Amino acid sequence: MIHAIINGRVFDGADFTYKALLIKNGVIQSIVAPDCPEVTQAAILYDAKGAFVLPGFIDVHVHFNEPGRTVWEGFRTGSAGAAAGGITTVCDMPLNSHPSANNAGTLQLKEQSLHHQSFIDFALWGGMTADMSHNEKALQAMQDVGIIGFKGFLSESGISDFKRLDHHSLPQAMAFCGETNTILALHAELEDILTHYDLSQSGRKDAAAFLESRPVDAELEAVDIVLDYSAKYNTPLHIVHVSHPDVVERLFSAKKTGVNVSIETCPHYLLFTDEDFLREGPLLKSTPPLRDKDSVEGLWEKIHQGKIDIISSDHSPCPPAMKQRGINNIWQAWSGIQSVQFGIPAFISCALRRGFSLTDMLPLLTNNAAQRFPYLHEQGRIQPGKKANLTIYDPTIDTHVTSDDILFRHKYSPYVGREIKGAIKATFVNGQCVYKAEEGIVVDEPFGKNLASL
Ligand SMILES: [Zn+2]
Repeated sequence: MIHAIINGRVFDGADFTYKALLIKNGVIQSIVAPDCPEVTQAAILYDAKGAFVLPGFIDVHVHFNEPGRTVWEGFRTGSAGAAAGGITTVCDMPLNSHPSANNAGTLQLKEQSLHHQSFIDFALWGGMTADMSHNEKALQAMQDVGIIGFKGFLSESGISDFKRLDHHSLPQAMAFCGETNTILALHAELEDILTHYDLSQSGRKDAAAFLESRPVDAELEAVDIVLDYSAKYNTPLHIVHVSHPDVVERLFSAKKTGVNVSIETCPHYLLFTDEDFLREGPLLKSTPPLRDKDSVEGLWEKIHQGKIDIISSDHSPCPPAMKQRGINNIWQAWSGIQSVQFGIPAFISCALRRGFSLTDMLPLLTNNAAQRFPYLHEQGRIQPGKKANLTIYDPTIDTHVTSDDILFRHKYSPYVGREIKGAIKATFVNGQCVYKAEEGIVVDEPFGKNLASL
């Protein structure tokens, strides 16, 4: 049976054209004229009514925390929020599920627990921790289970069974990933610098003390070290949640000399400033922290210059109490921003207001990730033969975000109260509609697949 999405303006990789999309067995079969006879013979899957038909967004950095910390999130709720945000594939981090997925056993445990739990497609990152980086056999075993790459930290991760890479274990990790041509994603803030500036024992408990404790130097020093190792060992690097334009510049310069690195930032570094953090406190606590207005402007300039590859949410949820306990003592608050449902629509809204075109922004949300990471190559573009993972986006609708809209577990987010121009109308995974704006999640049983499962 052939299904059709009609009356949409379909993104063909360069432009939008008024076409119908024919889908068979979850795969895009053809993009045809609206009055083509095949369209009249097909079953109508969705009438886009003039809205944009986009490749489904790919979010390579989320923490859905299943198994073990589903009190914080969980795949059912996390993936529902993602679907409502137009995301059709997430890559889930090896923390903060418990135990951390840093060996084949815990990775398998995690994979098994996710069967029939995700409304969208997903892939898993494997943990690269100090206690495992020397164990090539164990790392290989994780690759045999199926991972999109490894994730490591250069600063304390905040999770006791996820040990940061230190001066001894980092080169081991870089060498292994170089030898096996596996992407190593790094949280790049250097612990030595953070320790030097740390004010957590100073008696100060205010939000400004947190900002002062995590200067951009910690990011710059970290990327200098890992770029050197990457050049030495040929390690494909992915630097997650870069918060500052100087860090982007450092990475991009290295990339121009041949270092294999991709650069990620998140909507919160583009849409909020340190002033917002000082006002809101724990709600906007993240690592690295939010930066000043000039840095935010600088980061947008880096996007304009095409120096940033990927926008991810870094959705890092927790129960509200773990934020509230930091109101009078910022060190007590969990670091992480609940964003997966709103980050990308808010980013697009702001980008369009700033004069960027949707066609320029889409690769950051779709095809760049599809090209960069294994297992995602069948996505990222609307072309015959690609997976029918699609997002219907109406740029004309204004949305006022309320906590009632939230589909992820805990009903708070810094995006609540924000005006977003443009709305996700529907989300399709494997040619099946999973989300409609008017109805919410429209399938009973989650059918999202682990794309990296071998
Ligand atoms: Zn993260």
